Amino acid sequence: MTFLVHGDVKKGERERQKAIQEAELSIMKELRESREKKDKAKAGEQSSGRLLTDRSVNFGAMKNRLADIWRPVKGVLIREIEGQVYLFQFFHEFDVDRILEGGPWSFDNHLLLLHKLKQGKIPTKVPLNLIPFWVQIYDLPVGYMSETIGMQLGNFIGKFLAYYTTNNSGIGRSYTRVRVAVDVRKPLMRCKKISKPGGDCVMIKFKYERLGSFCFVCGTLGYTESFCEKLFSSNDKNMAREWGTWLRAPDKRSIQFKPSKWLRESLGGETPYGTIGAPTG
Ligand SMILES: [Zn+2]
Repeated sequence: MTFLVHGDVKKGERERQKAIQEAELSIMKELRESREKKDKAKAGEQSSGRLLTDRSVNFGAMKNRLADIWRPVKGVLIREIEGQVYLFQFFHEFDVDRILEGGPWSFDNHLLLLHKLKQGKIPTKVPLNLIPFWVQIYDLPVGYMSETIGMQLGNFIGKFLAYYTTNNSGIGRSYTRVRVAVDVRKPLMRCKKISKPGGDCVMIKFKYERLGSFCFVCGTLGYTESFCEKLFSSNDKNMAREWGTWLRAPDKRSIQFKPSKWLRESLGGETPYGTIGAPTG
């Protein structure tokens, strides 16, 4: 009997030790998983970026300005990691996603190229050549305003990313909108000739929203014709400008802008208190 009691005690102790070991293993596993999850989240919340310019930039002014425009709820840490390549550390996935989807961003009229970093990627080694734009497509023939056509045209302009979901519901809208990643090493696409089923051809035109500075001679983003190699090598100051300001989509804010009833444009005119004549004497 003693043996049995002794045996029971031993058995109970073994089970207790086993339970402790299992609990410890479980805690270790949870900690490891949580650490892995955190590391993964951290990597997903980093972006590398560079400004599309050869000019030197006031880094202090840039990081303050971008943080002010973005207003990330959990903040952002911006570091310069190598000659005008920056690391943007966000602290919540919602922040980084909103900022990447809301681009293009610019500082001092220089476009910012951003790239969301995947785990294990080296920020200075990822290519920073693509920039997303909303492109408005004008003069599409009746019946051509569809996602399939939008996708084809998006892939002609650059790399199609998205079709504006309310494209087909805006009554009287004169254009369709597509989200496109544009390669900054290539000239901006201006138009495309498409043939209609009857055989007629039609030229459809593109306008880019929030387009930064670009060269009117060669259509490249990031500089103006004053720095254009093509112009300099031609030695002809009057050579044709095949690109122009017409590639800029009208700023929606200026379209929606309603003049204040309190604002006078001249010395005379109407105010809410009646007609006011120009001061005399
Ligand atoms: Zn040029």
